[in-house]
Amino acid sequence: PRILAIESSCDDTGAAVMAGGKLLSNLVATQKVHEQYGGVVPELASRAHQQHLLPVVTAALKEAGISKHELDAVAVTQGPGLLGSLLVGGMFAKTFALALGKPLIAVNHMRAHILAHFIRDPKPSFPFLCLTVSGGHTQLVVVRSALDMEVIGQTIDDAAGEAFDKTSKLLGLPYPGGPHLDKLARQGDPQRFAFPVGAMPGYDFSFSGLKTSVLYFLRKEVAANPSFVAENLADLCASIQHTIVATLLRQLRRAATDTGLRQVALAGGVAANSGLRTALQQEAEAQGWEVFIPDFAFCTDNAAMVAVTAHFQLEAGDLATQLMSPDPRLKLT
Ligand code: ATP
Ligand code: FE
Repeated sequence: PRILAIESSCDDTGAAVMAGGKLLSNLVATQKVHEQYGGVVPELASRAHQQHLLPVVTAALKEAGISKHELDAVAVTQGPGLLGSLLVGGMFAKTFALALGKPLIAVNHMRAHILAHFIRDPKPSFPFLCLTVSGGHTQLVVVRSALDMEVIGQTIDDAAGEAFDKTSKLLGLPYPGGPHLDKLARQGDPQRFAFPVGAMPGYDFSFSGLKTSVLYFLRKEVAANPSFVAENLADLCASIQHTIVATLLRQLRRAATDTGLRQVALAGGVAANSGLRTALQQEAEAQGWEVFIPDFAFCTDNAAMVAVTAHFQLEAGDLATQLMSPDPRLKLT
């Protein structure tokens, strides 16, 4: 089947075309406008989606060499995400599907992040354990099949990506801070400063304590030495990153041990973090895990992951109707 997929849950406008499970095009228009505000401004994101959507969809179809009349289905992210952003993509997809007389497929964004592992080889086999670490979510998921997933642990407050971004902001780094902190951390000493690890009982996470502890620590140190941050930047970054990674690894190890799953997958934008990748590889060697990490373009928001998820849903006959409406808080199960 030929599927056009649309992703507009946050601040990236994506369109992809997949035919017979093969990715033919995958385009994304990112929004620069939010940088100056230090975070995504929902109203501006919706407006930018309005501007980007038609050109991105047109270009994705053109690159795939497929006419809109040849499509077998139109897929779109239903949630979770920002309501205004989801509305723009959702209304576009519904209108497009209605006008062309094609079926509509509503895709859960967090399932799509996980199924990004099935866009290209190597693919994990079912069942496997997935750690999703994105800007808005931190979840440990047992993936039994493409359609059968169970969240066994998640963050009770901030997501891992948020923890990177908020602590980076305290250090004066540009938004989004995660990649900047990662780069600086490479030159620093991860053992220099100790911050609290946010592993909860069971498989849950908590990252808000880290942010508060960094805030008070910096306040105290800067009062004594105004150039404390500048003088210790790399060590601060390395220590913060080490804390976040240690928290993630502790819960992942616990979940892998208890479930007996030996295939471990990473999903979401924080999968790009070099400290997390190194620690996971080391852990994998020690534990005998097989590790899966998709290409970075498939870790951050993209429409290819929506297309592959839609492919599985279409196979199972899981179609939506014109009554489909966006759900900003759509749950994974
Ligand atoms: P969600 O799917 O939960 O709504 P999202 O899709 O917007 O969130 P992603 O695009 O998956 O989030 O990931 C973005 C996050 O990844 C940001 O918080 C960013 O700082 C973080 N990130 C990206 N690269 C790195 C890195 N190298 N180190 C740490 N964090 C990183
Ligand atoms: Fe996302």
